[in-house]
Amino acid sequence: MVEAARSDARLSPVLTQATSVVAARGEGVHVYDEAGRRYLDFTAGIGVTSTGHCHPRVVEAARRQVATLVHGQYTTVLHRPLLRLTERLGEVLPEGVDRLFYVNSGSEAVEAALRLARHATGRQNAVVFQGSFHGRTMAAASLTTSGTKIRAGIGPLMPGVVVAPFPYAYRYGWTEPEAVRFALRELDYLFATVTSPRDTAAIFVEPVLGEGGYVPAPAEFLTGLRERADRYGVLLVVDEVQTGFGRTGRFWGHRHSGVRPDIVITAKGLASGFPLSAIAAPAELMDRAWPGSQGGTYGGNAVSCAAALATLDVIEEENLVDNAAQMGERLLKGLRRVADAHPVVGDVRGLGLMVGSEFTGPDGVPDTGTATRAQAAAADAGLLLLTCGPYGNVVRMIPPLIVTAEQVDAAVEIWTDAVARAAG
Ligand code: PMP
Repeated sequence: MVEAARSDARLSPVLTQATSVVAARGEGVHVYDEAGRRYLDFTAGIGVTSTGHCHPRVVEAARRQVATLVHGQYTTVLHRPLLRLTERLGEVLPEGVDRLFYVNSGSEAVEAALRLARHATGRQNAVVFQGSFHGRTMAAASLTTSGTKIRAGIGPLMPGVVVAPFPYAYRYGWTEPEAVRFALRELDYLFATVTSPRDTAAIFVEPVLGEGGYVPAPAEFLTGLRERADRYGVLLVVDEVQTGFGRTGRFWGHRHSGVRPDIVITAKGLASGFPLSAIAAPAELMDRAWPGSQGGTYGGNAVSCAAALATLDVIEEENLVDNAAQMGERLLKGLRRVADAHPVVGDVRGLGLMVGSEFTGPDGVPDTGTATRAQAAAADAGLLLLTCGPYGNVVRMIPPLIVTAEQVDAAVEIWTDAVARAAG
């Protein structure tokens, strides 16, 4: 039985685990436990191993870099992998948003974006959307409302954070246009009543609400945010930590809307599992960062940068962005068939290979129990999945972008039985 448990009692209980699997190795879309049992990994290390586990190109690039230079420390010496990566990222980032700064994790990059926004505008406040996840370090946690477990008991949190509603249509029982109209109207109301635009540095948004329940931001919503950002001189920061690097079937999640961001935050899929994150901004904005105000011992690590360069090659050569779009459609269709047969799955939604099934009771009340049982039944049958949402009642699928039609179909088959067993 693959159950949610800590597999070592000496590990701190802050570490909660979705399964008790101890992974011995990974290859492509699969991980293997120590007994040699194979699992279809539709978690991809929370959206990190987008090129699959141990892609040979990434492994080779990292191996070569390990033998050449592991650590240079970018405030001491620069190195070629970082310089080459900066050039390559400039080619895939939105036009003109091509000045970069590197750190190690999503949370640190969020902090870096906040510092840049405050330094560049001379303003303090940040608008975030209810249900968003931006990280666990103190400022990032202050921006995070995906669940109180991230915020509870650690206050006082950073002041100056204003939480606006996200257009989560299913939750409100509205159509998407209704939810967008509501969310934008409430945002305007907040600008009129709580945070003067003159005090507001930035709006932070995820193109798909991730940890908060896998809810895509409608294009009209992002367009509305851009309009307000332009009107008020507020920066639009897109947190692409989970949605970037092809995950949603476009290279960046915000590309579905066509809006121009002021700051892009990227991590996770960027380096196929090696720790690396970055923020990008146009030159006129990045030039307003205060020299020496940011940095970090490991930022822009040489092996991570080499892995990121190989990741970009693999995404391009193996057409992984298109594959994410196609496989995402196939997965969505399969999951919708399951939902049609089981009313306990109230909504199936997503963009590309970032797809969630939300479990609710007849009156729309979150059904965490059935979601958790379905997740456990899937793990028993060899399919690793994660939940998300403040109630843990959304089961998400976020496989590597290399996933094939056969693997998607195999996952849907396991999921069909798992939901039947859980709902049973
Ligand atoms: N932003 C988003 C959108 C995320 O999904 C995450 C991680 N789930 C983070 C920030 C924080 O990233 P990290 O865990 O690397 O600090």
